[in-house]
Amino acid sequence: MIYDVAVLGFGPTGATLGNLLAAQGVSVLVVDREAAMYHLPRAVHFDDEVMRVFQTVGIADDLLEKVRVNPGMKFVDNDDTLLLDWPRPQEITPHGWNASYRLHQPDLEKLLRDKLASEASANIQTGFDVTALGQTERCVTLSGHMQDGTPKSYQARYVVGCDGANSVTRSEIGGGMDDLGFEERWLVVDLLLKRPRPDLGDHSIQFCNPDRPMTYCRSPGERRRWEITVKEGESDADMTDPARVWQLLSRWITPEDADLERRAVYTFRSQVAKTWRRGRMLIAGDAAHLTPPFMGQGMCTGIRDAANLAWKLIACLNGADDRLLDTYQSERAPHARAYVETAMRLGGLINSLDRAAALKLADPHGAGATQMRSIAPTLGPSPITNSRQNDHLGRPFAQFDLDCSHRRFDDFVGYNHAVISAAQPRKMLPGARWIDAGKHPAIARALSDLNVGAAWVRPDRYLGAMSPHPDGLFDAVLPYFDA
Ligand SMILES: Cc1cc2nc3c(=O)[nH]c(=O)nc-3n(C[C@H](O)[C@H](O)[C@H](O)COP(=O)(O)OP(=O)(O)OC[C@H]3O[C@@H](n4cnc5c(N)ncnc54)[C@H](O)[C@@H]3O)c2cc1C
Repeated sequence: MIYDVAVLGFGPTGATLGNLLAAQGVSVLVVDREAAMYHLPRAVHFDDEVMRVFQTVGIADDLLEKVRVNPGMKFVDNDDTLLLDWPRPQEITPHGWNASYRLHQPDLEKLLRDKLASEASANIQTGFDVTALGQTERCVTLSGHMQDGTPKSYQARYVVGCDGANSVTRSEIGGGMDDLGFEERWLVVDLLLKRPRPDLGDHSIQFCNPDRPMTYCRSPGERRRWEITVKEGESDADMTDPARVWQLLSRWITPEDADLERRAVYTFRSQVAKTWRRGRMLIAGDAAHLTPPFMGQGMCTGIRDAANLAWKLIACLNGADDRLLDTYQSERAPHARAYVETAMRLGGLINSLDRAAALKLADPHGAGATQMRSIAPTLGPSPITNSRQNDHLGRPFAQFDLDCSHRRFDDFVGYNHAVISAAQPRKMLPGARWIDAGKHPAIARALSDLNVGAAWVRPDRYLGAMSPHPDGLFDAVLPYFDA
């Protein structure tokens, strides 16, 4: 059997991509070398745009019960003087969700895995270590072995490597990584409180102590996290020794208050892959980009990759010109890079002795202000969505409530294209939904704000094109579909 798509790696990126594909009836195989889910926490934060993708996957309501709305992050110096405040709005944003959530990554991964297991066209193969990929004109073969050493192979028309930092798919594609220059070791300590400690606060705090920068994260439930810089000459073994960990945390917490859930030293890097696609092989998530975690955007960036890529793969499986897949890197790589570079700037502030310079670096548009705003980069330009043309293209379209159906925009549209216009379009992309602005005042207002008669909202919810009339809307993308 040749699967439509094989997803290599069952982390959050692969699980999200697998779900988006399987929900559209694509025969998808998701493989991972581990027999069970990685149970230790990594990501503790995600944002409203990413929650919107989880809404499309169908897990947002269940996830909402497991997460906390995040009030924001504060950067303080050694004397706890506030250097920079990064508050997160508490009201619902244009995406239709809260701006920022705190999570326990295994809670999310379990929901994603359970959802995928319920999809008829999805197959999951755990315990399969892929060692090589071979590509022909027709398909890609994944070869490797099961945990008992038995050789195994699968074939698929496309393979997406969501196989993390040491991606074998990236090596097979070639091209290497662009190194943006950040490399630091940090000790990550997760604790489970034994008794309430409201005094620790609900904000995340960056302790910008140049001698030893640290981060405090308020995770959901009883979980709390500290991330601590590891200095040159300090070994992983010394730093993870429980006595040493408690000594480093003694200013805030003691073994009377909490149990150590885990401690591990990670090397944080800032890298973006140079080549995201070769023929039928592509990469997404940590396989394509690595960021220091100071913005909590590593996993989020991979989820955005999945939302951008899945509809393009579906189109190509249905006969679209596969050069459509080249728009994936041109749109996603600059977007991912904007997050990596901002995270590096924040890292600079956390580490820096020169406060004024660091503040300016952390928020170059803030003109010395001590309040930081979240960034919202635009997709890189591509032949289908030329984000350079105006300020709206290549940016997410807001999630409105549709007045007549009392449904939210994304629930109504599903993971499909949408055309919003008062005049009925004569030509549509396959599977597209038309939303009649004449029936939905909120949509009519949105068009009027954009000063256009029609707009194309892509399945990833980014504004793809605008035009005075719906007939001009697909001029750039239709040649790919009519191939
Ligand atoms: C301490 C820390 C804090 C973080 N905090 C945040 C945060 O707050 N917010 C955020 O958004 N991100 C955060 N991140 C980043 C986030 O955890 C990662 O970006 C995310 O897990 C990447 O997901 P992924 O699916 O791309 O890759 P991974 O989660 O690494 O999954 C890759 C999968 O591929 C499998 N695999 C690899 N090679 C093979 C092979 N050859 N054969 C078979 N299977 C294979 C692996 O077993 C693994 O399951 C943090 C990371 C760390 C370390």
